[in-house]
Amino acid sequence: MYYKSTRDSSVKITSAEAIVQGISKDGGLFVPSEIPSVSMDEIVKLGDMSYPERAAFIFSKYLTDFTDAEIRYCTDNAYTSKNFATENIAEISHLFDGTYILELWHGPTCAFKDMALQILPYLLTTSAKKINIDKKIVILVATSGDTGKAALEGFADVPGTQIMVFYPEDGVSPMQKRQMTTQDGENVAVCALKGNFDDCQTGVKQIFGSKEIAEKLEANKLMFSSANSINWGRLAPQIIYYISAYATLVKDEEIKAGDKINIVVPTGNFGNILAAYYAKNMGLPVNKLICASNTNKVLTDFINTGIYDRNRDFVTTISPSMDILISSNLERLLYIMCGQDDAQIKEWFGALSKTGRYEVTDEIKAKLKADFAAGFCTDEETKAEIKRIYDKYSYTLDTHSAVAVKVYEDYKAETGDATKTVIASTASPYKFSASVLEAIEGEKSSLDEYAMIDKLNELSGYEIPASLAALKTKPVRFSDVISKEEQKDYVLKELGL
Ligand SMILES: *Cc1c(COP(=O)(O)O)cnc(C)c1O
Repeated sequence: MYYKSTRDSSVKITSAEAIVQGISKDGGLFVPSEIPSVSMDEIVKLGDMSYPERAAFIFSKYLTDFTDAEIRYCTDNAYTSKNFATENIAEISHLFDGTYILELWHGPTCAFKDMALQILPYLLTTSAKKINIDKKIVILVATSGDTGKAALEGFADVPGTQIMVFYPEDGVSPMQKRQMTTQDGENVAVCALKGNFDDCQTGVKQIFGSKEIAEKLEANKLMFSSANSINWGRLAPQIIYYISAYATLVKDEEIKAGDKINIVVPTGNFGNILAAYYAKNMGLPVNKLICASNTNKVLTDFINTGIYDRNRDFVTTISPSMDILISSNLERLLYIMCGQDDAQIKEWFGALSKTGRYEVTDEIKAKLKADFAAGFCTDEETKAEIKRIYDKYSYTLDTHSAVAVKVYEDYKAETGDATKTVIASTASPYKFSASVLEAIEGEKSSLDEYAMIDKLNELSGYEIPASLAALKTKPVRFSDVISKEEQKDYVLKELGL
């Protein structure tokens, strides 16, 4: 299997090359030239395997240039009970009849990003070795909160790599900020940017694309790569847990092999739900992919109208990891849907960067409607949903997962669709204690972050993640705050260039 660029279909590279490069030189994203298939027999067999074995099986279909031993090296080192608080890696909780919560947050940083970022450093260093790269790989990350910490945790002290993380100064939760600014490791740097997530991401993309910087890197045996979900090495690991969840539900006799399910995903950059779309197109029986947004509902509007329009106010919400107006991975979806028409993608995404808007064809609108449903909810609705689920089912949702549950409830009420449904739960409630406590108690808590964690422990009964409890006594290592204009110089300074 080869990988193409969404902006140049003639690009033909291996998965190792795609993972090392991160993003194509033409500004496009790498996608597999075709989507491999998985049969129902194969899915059923996964039910008897461990998570690393399931992962290795799915990876073997995408990373066809890797040997089995290379893939197993990656999966067996990443998906261990040393890194994850549950042996199942991704846990399934039964919320109510026919509705399952896929808990993707049992990793070291308590958000679903760990599912991919625990394995990405292994995929990346293995890829670099395979294609004889002898440069140090510099990872630049733009984060709305969770990616940054998960990437730092994954890459800290990984030989041959260096990592720099940019987060919006006022756009992350206190706990997310503390997780990042206290990060250990000799090869890490963390910096706040005066701006929002889109500013961070745009800046990183510009630095990636700068010829001047590229030449300096080349002269110093350095190269950039990305740990954002524009990197295929981030996307591929996310396909696995949807197929794995289905295999578990069949094994547990919750569904019969071949039954369709719905998948609901709280969405920001469109990476997680795109992985579910890949799973569906591999052969996983999926009825609807339900895209859940917060008040930054650019995707709800897009799926419902075919018009993508980012010309609107950016709103800071209690689900900050979904506060995004430019969802990068949509480019991959549209590339597939328009039959790999790179000229069409260039036209739409050119318009997006010029005018902030594009409109897809009627054919694509129909395809979007066939595969997806979409909805959004406000902060008030999110809090009410946390409270309702807590009172009724004694289950404590974080703010992002609550958006998904609420949008799903609305979808069900509107359509009457009774298909069994898997809802992706993307963060531990402890990561957003202040908002979750406020939702359950009905008023803002006056406790400090750590007392809030104790209080949430009392209310939920869930074990406190050791990594969060430990933050209280960890010293802050990184306190730089810069403007957008200073981002490039910051990177050069950190690299000693
Ligand atoms: C990143 C993140 C999301 C959004 O996922 P995308 O792949 O960017 O759509 C949702 N919830 C949480 C908690 C996240 O960290």
